[in-house]
Amino acid sequence: MCGIVGYVGKKINLQTVIEKLQKLEYRGYDSAGIAFIKNKEISAIKEANKIDSLINKTEGLQGRICISHTRWATHGDVNVTNAHPQISYKSNFAVVHNGIIENYKDLRSKIGEDKFVSQTDTESVVNLLECIEGTSLEKVIKTSQQLKGRFALAIMDKSGKNLYLSKKNIPLYVAKTNGGFIVASDISCIDSAEYYSLEDNMVAQVNKYKVSFYLNGQLVKLSPIKNTYNSEQIALNGYKHFMEKEIAETSKVLKNISTRYETLFNKLLEPDAFNKFSRICFIGCGTAYHASLLGASWLKNKTHISVEAYVASEFRYSEPIIDENTLIILVSQSGETADTLAVAEMAKNQKATVYAITNCEHSTIVKFADRVFPTCAGPEIAVASTKAYSAMLAIMYLISNYKSNYNELSKNLKKVAELISNEIDSRIVDVIKNSKRVFFIGRVDDGVTSQEAALKLKEIAYLDTYGYYAGELKHGPIALVEPGIAVCGIVTSESIKDKTINAIEEVKSRGATTIIITDDVNLEGDYTVRIPQIDIPELKSVLAVIPLQLLAYKVTCELNQNPDQPRNLAKSVTVE
Ligand code: GLU
Repeated sequence: MCGIVGYVGKKINLQTVIEKLQKLEYRGYDSAGIAFIKNKEISAIKEANKIDSLINKTEGLQGRICISHTRWATHGDVNVTNAHPQISYKSNFAVVHNGIIENYKDLRSKIGEDKFVSQTDTESVVNLLECIEGTSLEKVIKTSQQLKGRFALAIMDKSGKNLYLSKKNIPLYVAKTNGGFIVASDISCIDSAEYYSLEDNMVAQVNKYKVSFYLNGQLVKLSPIKNTYNSEQIALNGYKHFMEKEIAETSKVLKNISTRYETLFNKLLEPDAFNKFSRICFIGCGTAYHASLLGASWLKNKTHISVEAYVASEFRYSEPIIDENTLIILVSQSGETADTLAVAEMAKNQKATVYAITNCEHSTIVKFADRVFPTCAGPEIAVASTKAYSAMLAIMYLISNYKSNYNELSKNLKKVAELISNEIDSRIVDVIKNSKRVFFIGRVDDGVTSQEAALKLKEIAYLDTYGYYAGELKHGPIALVEPGIAVCGIVTSESIKDKTINAIEEVKSRGATTIIITDDVNLEGDYTVRIPQIDIPELKSVLAVIPLQLLAYKVTCELNQNPDQPRNLAKSVTVE
């Protein structure tokens, strides 16, 4: 959720490293810091503030080795003491850490509470290094073996010769640059033509000249990966915010999918693809869970077997019935979502088949998957997912139509791509912005779109929003409907349209301002968003969600909030 950037090599300006760290700002963080060597001692500059302030504080400073970090606090308040790098009690080591050390309390009491100054779990790592015998490399290997939880660690000692890396379940990359090596927790920081991706339980020693990898203390070989990350894709290109740019890219994404699956569709989805399974579970969190709900409903309708969607964080603790006849379809934009990965591990242990739908084809989730369905959305920088959600729906559409002729499906994706409009009536933006609370209601697929719309508006505009299946309204939530509040009714699901219309009438009778998002030309609310008509039921959900994403974006801008970096949230949730 947070980020690591480190460097070892010929002398560089520390600001160059901080600028790379700034590329990780989008992931969400609360404090930042950098450690380097000054007068043969480890020195650190930390801020519980924007990364900009580190840029100012490192002006003119240079170094041959450094580790830097953006923190998203899991253990301990957001303050300078808890910010990383954490320095060991004898000042021999500095560490930056992404993730959670689950046995930190045991380690703290073993080492002695008096040796600790911060509240973080991370400090237990750096202090443990002081307590272990051997060379720095041996200390890192032995320390890593004692850690429980999920971590990516970059460590330096005060000799300043080597960087040490260690990881379990959280990504960490290292690449050769002109003057030495760069280390990062996100590919977006790496410009080199190729890079190494550390495997779980691996330790690396990196110096100016070379990088060496160790598994269980033994030197091992690791093959480099070609870097296909295109930094052009993460530029604003004239847009004010990434969220706006990413919504606008949806048409392009649907076209990318239709091209990419020309070769993938038949490989991944044979006509009897699902015959051998007695149960199929889609697993996701947040927006990916909403996409899972739709995927499960569509696939169930086509296969007539038990297909359900679950929230990953609940599923993993619900003693689920998984066996070799179960198919688990994991859905994660980043491919690094901690709870979803935990389900992946569990499913593999219980001999289930695992498929992954992800936007990041080199992510951890891929390592668990028997089949990978790329969402082809390109990098998504805004914390709130938009184009990646629409891409997930397009993949769900392909999966659930696995028996169809691909040319037909591809034509339909392209058709929808042409119909997308990026307009939203500013009067509706005003109504929502001024509403004390906002309801989104719909039935079946529209009920899922309602939940996604409510989540989007909540997460970036901080409004009091509710997304409900319209039939549930009378069972409680309608108590919150009062004159002047906004209720958005989503009406595209043909079979059950009239029921949603009834619910809209009911809230109208209680004084709500109604906004109807529909493809029905005869339907009018106090305000109406008319979406294009298509005869592809699944893809109506893509056309319906886009104006709602735009609405969330515009309302957020009107309320002077930053849509790309909402408070408390991070782009990829790599901790439980
Ligand atoms: N658990 C560590 C802390 O709270 C690291 C959190 C992070 O991944 O940024 O400091």
